[in-house]
Amino acid sequence: MSHLHETRMKLRGELEAPPALRRFGSGWISGVIGLALGVGGLLLVMSLRVPGFSMPEVRALHGNPWFRLVLHVLLLAAFAFSALSLALRKGKILGTCGVVATLLATLLGGSKAASLLPDSTPVFFGLDWFALNVLLTGFLFIPMERIFPHVADQHLFREEWREDLFYYLVSSFMVQALTFLTFLPSKTVLALAPLTEVRQWVGELPFLVQFVAIMFLTDFVQYWVHRLFHRVPWLWRFHSVHHSARSMDWMAGARMHFLEIVVLRSSTVIPMFVLGFSAVAMNSYILLVYLYSTFVHANLNWRFPFLERLLVTPRFHHWHHGLEREAIDVNFSIHFPLFDRLFGTYFLPKDRWPEGYGIGGHPVPKGYLAQLKYPFRRKTKPA
Ligand SMILES: [Zn+2]
Ligand SMILES: [Zn+2]
Repeated sequence: MSHLHETRMKLRGELEAPPALRRFGSGWISGVIGLALGVGGLLLVMSLRVPGFSMPEVRALHGNPWFRLVLHVLLLAAFAFSALSLALRKGKILGTCGVVATLLATLLGGSKAASLLPDSTPVFFGLDWFALNVLLTGFLFIPMERIFPHVADQHLFREEWREDLFYYLVSSFMVQALTFLTFLPSKTVLALAPLTEVRQWVGELPFLVQFVAIMFLTDFVQYWVHRLFHRVPWLWRFHSVHHSARSMDWMAGARMHFLEIVVLRSSTVIPMFVLGFSAVAMNSYILLVYLYSTFVHANLNWRFPFLERLLVTPRFHHWHHGLEREAIDVNFSIHFPLFDRLFGTYFLPKDRWPEGYGIGGHPVPKGYLAQLKYPFRRKTKPA
């Protein structure tokens, strides 16, 4: 046990290595890529073996030769990057862990792995969704954050990265429960008010009109729910978990209390689901909001001089997370700053970024479980 702990601490030490030990050519970059691909590949192979670890949308791809090919290439790349790291780096822990994860995945059947159990499980956990979620989002945002960082010296494995990764794991793993709870209120409303004619009319509108309408309607609902989470003290205890992030990057947005995810998602999908928007428009919006919410938290220095008046940008949402007084209770919108302008909560000073992120006094404890329990604790210091 202590040996495992020692390995874990060594691995963490390597991931969090100081700049001098992770420069190009040190074997750090290849080690991290090899480890991420190896662990991701292992999780994907595990979900091929056990259908209960696979969400149905990904399970439907299991028979697809392209899915198998991509997994095969991923495992090969994991092995190659880990081997490169072993050759380049003095410390061998990154490369070794990457190789071990890849070999384990291969021993489990690799890209040819077949299911061990009948594929009829009604309950599932999104282990494969977690792997795909982190790999795809990381693949998209990490290079952008490295090339165009707002905080230039921010480490990829910055303070509290493990908590935020764990938030990714929970919300991906619990995808079935979250989806069920998200659509429960909408389905109840729809059962009470079928709105057949309205639904038919809305569903036949052009795609672009539907898409923009969804953005406006969900942002309007989101604005007020979000504002409520700030203004009602008991709700703020839940939302303060999201605001406890002290660094902003592609992982920071994942930090959100489980119950807040349920309330926020279920209330924002009500207009989208009840009014009868087409499945294509709804799914496109869900993809957009998934990328957009990662984007606005990202550590990106991009400026959009004209566009930032119309659409929410990283700088706009970074001000929502700012530590300074002027950043308190501003910029609630996630798509259109218009709502903040209309309701008097707009704040975007010219050319300035917040000095720091989080909540004054940092009242929220560290660690996923402590944060899960935090809103239910009897008394803490005032925020
Ligand atoms: Zn907020
Ligand atoms: Zn946020």
